[in-house]
Amino acid sequence: MNENKVIYLDHASTTPILPSVYEKMKPWLDGSLIGNPSSIHSAGKQARNAIEHARYLVATMIGAKPEEIFFTSGGTESDNLALQGFAAMSVGSNFVVSGIEHDAILSQIVPLWDRYRVEMIQGRVTPDGEISIDDLRLILRSGRVSLVSVMLANNETGVVQPIREVAELCRQHGAALHTDAVQAVGHMGVNVDELGVDMLSLSGHKFGAPDGVGALYIRKGVQHKVKPIMWGGWQERGKRSGTENVAAIVGLGAAAEWTIENLQRQTEIYQSWKDKFLGILREELCEYIPVNGRGDILPNILNISIRGVQSEALLLMMDADNVYISAGSACSAGSPDPSHVLVAMGMSNEEANCAVRISFGHSNTDSEVETAAKLFAKNVRRIRSMYQNGFTL
Ligand code: PLP
Repeated sequence: MNENKVIYLDHASTTPILPSVYEKMKPWLDGSLIGNPSSIHSAGKQARNAIEHARYLVATMIGAKPEEIFFTSGGTESDNLALQGFAAMSVGSNFVVSGIEHDAILSQIVPLWDRYRVEMIQGRVTPDGEISIDDLRLILRSGRVSLVSVMLANNETGVVQPIREVAELCRQHGAALHTDAVQAVGHMGVNVDELGVDMLSLSGHKFGAPDGVGALYIRKGVQHKVKPIMWGGWQERGKRSGTENVAAIVGLGAAAEWTIENLQRQTEIYQSWKDKFLGILREELCEYIPVNGRGDILPNILNISIRGVQSEALLLMMDADNVYISAGSACSAGSPDPSHVLVAMGMSNEEANCAVRISFGHSNTDSEVETAAKLFAKNVRRIRSMYQNGFTL
């Protein structure tokens, strides 16, 4: 048992608010600052200025122009605005997505068809965890594809997708490109022009801002092709009506500022923790531990399968030791099915059920990583000996 304290290694699900972010949000929460950004009095103007400063910071973080950033309630809403909004202006066309997208994308298959007669085609994925470029090329050649949506980095494996190649294919076939960058932002350099994307979703609670705030980047020349999905007071230039959540948007801007200043240093720290965790496991268990996914992987996410050890049993034992890790994404954690991401990569249900995700964040320390890795190895040994004595979950 880890007597000391909780060790939280599930930052890809959600990560705590950064102290500097909280400080900037506080006056908007405790009543020191107040104002509806649509009001024309001074308090309103102050709120408007705070929002526009946050917009500038978010735009700077991803190499966009402020007028290309639309604030939303998070990744799910950004993904819905991107796909549903685009579908409303391209009725009867086809969309292509990868088979490893988050449910915020994949779950739109039925409403896209029902409302706009837009068919969502799922592209194949390689065993390394990347979208298959060859398959995507074939689908695009078939014509009628108006939009491709491929995530920038996967939420379960952390595998970074070949977005530049996808963008080049889209350009050749006249399709627009959306990327769900919810896991990538704050953990790798993101520049919309270098990536060649037309739309990009991001979410605050994955990189030190609060939950319930995010943004959709829409390239200037594409904005007329995205219809709002909510109607009201014309906020966010009509793309997303509803009084702005000033405190949360200020927090998003502050997290963007922190990212601009600290990304390089922080990603090096995450990579060293990942190497350390894996090194300790390999040494303690004296075996090769395969990493799920290959190639370019986010530094903060480690997805591994422990031979013969079901993730559920391991998670419960780690929980009893006050160490929190995950078996795939939090959103699908209640589901008895194996991860659709790992299955799409060609893993058997049995292998997928042995996969766990450890994800590091700004609040972790070196010694937490070491303690957690040792407890992890101890619990693997314990479960294996329980299996030998006839235990089943
Ligand atoms: N897209 C990806 C890749 C995610 O990992 C998540 C959340 O886990 C989402 C979208 C949804 O974002 P939000 O929780 O902000 O709605």
